[in-house]
Amino acid sequence: MKAKISVEMAARVKSLPPYLFATIDRMKQEARARGVDVIDMSIGDPDQPTPAHIVNAMKQAVEKPEHHRYPSYEGMLSFREAVASWYKRRFGVSLDPGTEVLSLIGSKEGIGHIPLAFVEPGDVVLVPSPGYPVYPVSTLFAGGESYLMPLTEDHGFMPDFSSIPEDVLKRAKLMFLNYPNNPTSACATREMYEEAIRIAAKYNIIVCHDAAYSEIYFDGEKPISFMEMEGAKEVGIEFHSLSKTYNMTGWRIGFAVGNKDVIAGLGKIKSNLDSGIFQAVQEASIVALETDDKVLSDIRNVYQERRDALYSGLRGLGIEVTKPKASFYLWAKVPKGYDSASFVAHILEKAGVLGTPGNGFGGPGEGYIRFALTVSVDRIKEAVERLRKIL
Ligand SMILES: *Cc1c(COP(=O)(O)O)cnc(C)c1O
Repeated sequence: MKAKISVEMAARVKSLPPYLFATIDRMKQEARARGVDVIDMSIGDPDQPTPAHIVNAMKQAVEKPEHHRYPSYEGMLSFREAVASWYKRRFGVSLDPGTEVLSLIGSKEGIGHIPLAFVEPGDVVLVPSPGYPVYPVSTLFAGGESYLMPLTEDHGFMPDFSSIPEDVLKRAKLMFLNYPNNPTSACATREMYEEAIRIAAKYNIIVCHDAAYSEIYFDGEKPISFMEMEGAKEVGIEFHSLSKTYNMTGWRIGFAVGNKDVIAGLGKIKSNLDSGIFQAVQEASIVALETDDKVLSDIRNVYQERRDALYSGLRGLGIEVTKPKASFYLWAKVPKGYDSASFVAHILEKAGVLGTPGNGFGGPGEGYIRFALTVSVDRIKEAVERLRKIL
């Protein structure tokens, strides 16, 4: 007799929503199998390579035997010092590399783990919607309850804190914010951050600001950091990543900075789960953080040219879309007669153009489609031409 077990997923896994990109991947594969040349603007993964000086630093670092052993979970002090100097240079924010900086295996890892440190079953986590799907999922894994803060156009795609009921605020342990925002591309105002800090202090809520896109900005207008705000370090932390800034999504390195007790809590989870980042990657990342601004402005210019092409193209087709000041996304309204899913399916089917349905980022994203600027200007122009024929 063959031994056999019946494999039953845990309730927390069964209650997961379908992973957004899995559905889109399947649609894309089906279209390609039919021979369609798909112009894929659905995924937020830079198409440009990591700058050569960073790759070269990695080649040298990988040769060093001291890097072949276990790293420390909190990251090399030299990497954390490089993060602190970068924050000082870029935002004028002082951080103690010993207690206020923690390395992460990509910021997704930190976002995924932080509720485990602070959220008890039944506690509320305030989550922006539409938003990065990891915020509600990490909340669910910790047994917490997500309270969705709708991001709507009339509020600049920022949360309306005054609409959150008092009893929810009293039960809330954590609040996620993300600016420049994925998927709406909105930038934060100082007033919103001030309000977030005031509420956090009043109700004892940890603010977790995700700044993954702070370096992908246009027209020379630099987004601010949550950490620049007075009182921010008393109430929260900021997640950051080398992924988008330096085209390093595959390298898996990010970091969290800010409140030392919150950093220590996240560190406690990590020290029990992972063993840190390959030190060669950390050493190359020190070089990345010292990158000449010329290299970064070249990367930004590529996105800006694409943004301009797609923005004017969509506007020319009568599609309502705001011009992003940062991030590499365009958040467009689907035309009358469609919802997010039917519009995405229609343009994939008839034009081979792929975007992400807005409702996949949460209910309030219904009626929108997100286009990622991760294809060339020529492909963007081609996409617009194909859309012109079918709309
Ligand atoms: C891409 C992205 C991240 C960064 O992910 P890494 O794990 O650092 O690669 C974090 N937050 C948002 C909103 C993102 O879009």
